[in-house]
Order: sequence, then C-alpha cells, then structure tokens
Amino acid sequence: EREGTGIHLQDLPQAMLDMPLCMFRLMKRLEQNHHLKHGARLQLGLFLKGCGLTMDESLHFWKTEFSKGGISSDKFDKEYAYAIRHHYGKEGKRASYTPFSCMKIIQNRPSAHEEHGCPFRELNSASLDVMLQSYGIQDAESRNSIVQKAREGHFQVACGMTLQMKKAGRRTKLSEETTTPMDNAHYIPSHPNEYFFKSREKNET
Ligand code: SF4
Repeated sequence: EREGTGIHLQDLPQAMLDMPLCMFRLMKRLEQNHHLKHGARLQLGLFLKGCGLTMDESLHFWKTEFSKGGISSDKFDKEYAYAIRHHYGKEGKRASYTPFSCMKIIQNRPSAHEEHGCPFRELNSASLDVMLQSYGIQDAESRNSIVQKAREGHFQVACGMTLQMKKAGRRTKLSEETTTPMDNAHYIPSHPNEYFFKSREKNET
C-alpha cells in the first residue's frame, strides 16, 4: 500500500527537514514537550500517513513520543490509539481520512493555546524568523523576504520561497550559476505532502 517514495518510521528524523514548516514545527514541539494537542495531532498525524507511515508505525511513533512525556501505555491505548486508528479508517465509520491541504490548514486557525495551523500565518515576525533559522535558512536577508511575504498575506508563496531557499542553501553556494533556473523557482505549495515529496525528490538527484 505504501507509495514507492513513502518513508518508514526510521526515516522520520532525517525526513524532518523535508517537511514544510507547518509540520516541522509540530515535530519540534512534540520532540520538546512529548505532547501535542488534538488539532496538532490531527494535522501532523494525517500528514505522516500521507508520507507513507502505516497505521502500526504511526501508533508506535505516537506511543513512543507520548511515553517520554509520562503517558503510560495503558492510558495511550485508552485515550489516543482510537483516534489514530480512526485516521486510517479502522474505527468508527471506517472512512479513511485525507491529509489536510494548505487551504484547510491556513483556514483552520488555532486558538491561543493550540499549536496547529500554518506558521506563515500564525507566527509573529520574530517567531517566524527564529523558526526559519532552525529550519536551516541561515541567510538573514532570505529570512526577511520570506517573513515579508507572509506579512503581506501570501502564506503559500512564502512557503514556496522557503523550499527554494533551503535548496539554494543546500547547494552550499558553489557558484552563482548553480542557483539559476530551477523548476521549483516559482513553486507554490497547495498541499504539505506535495511539498514533502518535492523536497525529497530533489535531494536524491
Ligand atoms: Fe504548510 Fe501549506 Fe502553510 Fe506551507 S503553506 S506551511 S505547506 S500549510
């Protein structure tokens, strides 16, 4: 069932930098807090499913993370496992849930204490700058132009620029010529999973 380009559980740490900021941010939070609120679990959980994680891998992943935060295996099975099986259509109406598109994530705004949403919309300029830095955009000018785009309300454009600049950075600035036309020069993501596969595609070449 897994797509050819899909990832396994053990690929996750390395795959983090190929995730768009909306997912990278939640992975970081999970790493730090060993917990995520419902909206964030749904956003990230469905994305990971879209990346190719099987239901068993997802259950294992969440259980491991939550156990680091003191959630016992018993409590996890009672309170959290159902929702994950539900995402995979193994519970309830057996409908399989589709990972959220950018539009959906951008419009599904978090309340003050929630963690989900599109960071290009939800983070203030300073926090977005810090987040971009930890994502690997080292050049301050590049970060500025991304933040500026986000402030203008062009969240997906800002996200596409982030992918482009991350890739430019990866080429370790060999020469100016190598940073000319790329087919994702004007890439504007419409789905986090599409961003992910696009980012990975390029790594392999
Ligand atoms: Fe995620 Fe889409 Fe926002 Fe990018 S534009 S961070 S992929 S929701």
